[in-house]
Amino acid sequence: MSHYEEETFRFRGDDFEVNRGYFNEYGRQQHPHSLFIGCSDSRVVPSMITKTIPGELFIIRNIANLVPPYRESSEFLATTSAIEYAVQVLNVKNIIICGHSNCGGCAALWHDHGNTGLMPHTRRWLELASPIKERVTRIMATADPAAREWLTERINIIEQMNHLMTYPYIRERVENNELKIYGWHYMLHSGKIYQYNESAGYFESKDD
Ligand SMILES: [Zn+2]
Repeated sequence: MSHYEEETFRFRGDDFEVNRGYFNEYGRQQHPHSLFIGCSDSRVVPSMITKTIPGELFIIRNIANLVPPYRESSEFLATTSAIEYAVQVLNVKNIIICGHSNCGGCAALWHDHGNTGLMPHTRRWLELASPIKERVTRIMATADPAAREWLTERINIIEQMNHLMTYPYIRERVENNELKIYGWHYMLHSGKIYQYNESAGYFESKDD
């Protein structure tokens, strides 16, 4: 086995042993307290960001941490069905929308892709976030690319929080104080998290 393969499969040898007691006890059922919706980006690691152990988070990851607005459909809806299962069956108490700095999915909203033939489904998926461009353009006073990237990621998080509220069973639980929705902007370079303060209308550091 190459060094790379040894690293890839290390879990079975080391991490499983560390958690053996836990898996023996909880191996047959799960009671996660939170649904974590994050980007598929390889640098976004939900358990590391939240310092949680197996069993605590039900996790959805997709490009740019998007939530499609609620609709009934006969299509195969991965994100929508995972949300449904987490809320309706597992009764999670929190939903976290976790965007991140340097998000390629958010940046792609601004790129003119000449070669869209290679990723027709990705382009289509990102259309869910395209209204964000208009909002960013309206708010932006300058054309600074770094500021635009940062603002796009944050407005995207707020937009997806709003999309969650289009799910009737989520709205009902939020209004009854049975479920809370959080928006996080995770900084890849520092590990810091900025949480959206809905009443104040801005993101504030969770470390303060
Ligand atoms: Zn991303």
